[in-house]
Amino acid sequence: MNRAVHRTSAALIGVLSSLLLPVAPALAQATTPLFDMTKVTEKAYSFRFLVHRNMVLVTSDGVIVTDPINPVAAQHMMAEINRITSKPVKLVIYSHNHWDHIAGAKIFKDNGAKIIQHELAAKNTGIHPDVVPADETFSGDKHVIALGDQTVELIYVGPSHGSGSIVMRVPKERILHTIDVVTPGRVVFRGMPDFYPKQWIVALKKMEQLDYDLIIPGHGPASAPKSAVTLQREYLEDLSAAVATATRKAGSVYALDKITDLVKEELRPKYGKWNQFDDWMLLNVERVGLEQRLGW
Ligand SMILES: [Zn+2]
Repeated sequence: MNRAVHRTSAALIGVLSSLLLPVAPALAQATTPLFDMTKVTEKAYSFRFLVHRNMVLVTSDGVIVTDPINPVAAQHMMAEINRITSKPVKLVIYSHNHWDHIAGAKIFKDNGAKIIQHELAAKNTGIHPDVVPADETFSGDKHVIALGDQTVELIYVGPSHGSGSIVMRVPKERILHTIDVVTPGRVVFRGMPDFYPKQWIVALKKMEQLDYDLIIPGHGPASAPKSAVTLQREYLEDLSAAVATATRKAGSVYALDKITDLVKEELRPKYGKWNQFDDWMLLNVERVGLEQRLGW
């Protein structure tokens, strides 16, 4: 190959790779479908739409679905449910008051389903055009619902995230359905919007006391072992301790970059492989630091 040809090929390769580079992430995204339904146990499924998940539970007398996500997600969810069973959706359970999880119930309500929610969540849901208010609310720490051959315990875990946040235990399937309070394999969401880290730890301890084998979380994998709840609690405890120590070492609560570097160094051996470890750590650190200074 003479020099001119060699230069031309190199230039061509350069042009091609610069063209291809931006395409690669788009191709990777295109391979992840918009939604899917994963069978977790004999009767419990995890439905995913983009980054949100819920639980679909088939009983002998109809289907129970949790958070309907949004109208587009709910339409796909309904079609997926119709592929696994001919039974109608009879009950929709809202996990908490946040719109990104609960705005798609209309399609189920129009087909005869009843919506249930903790009264604290109902009081703090606000007005959103796609959020259908619950037909029934409950109060207190535990409410048991039964449909056909399944029961679901709706357990209020305290003021850890949003308002009226519940987890849902399905004894027959040995599952605990958790929404934003456990996301396996990822640091906590950005600056922890509407999360209360100290009370969140209390809630996670309550969840560790319950009897189940698997969780179906609201974000992340379709399911995870019970140990994911313990790891979530340990992350918050380790983060809190690391922020306190790093703040002392840095000498100022405003030295956020320095504090974050020290926290990363401390947490990397155990959590370095978790999603968003580098990208969201500064936000996690800032939120925990604020709680340590302000008391909430
Ligand atoms: Zn939420």
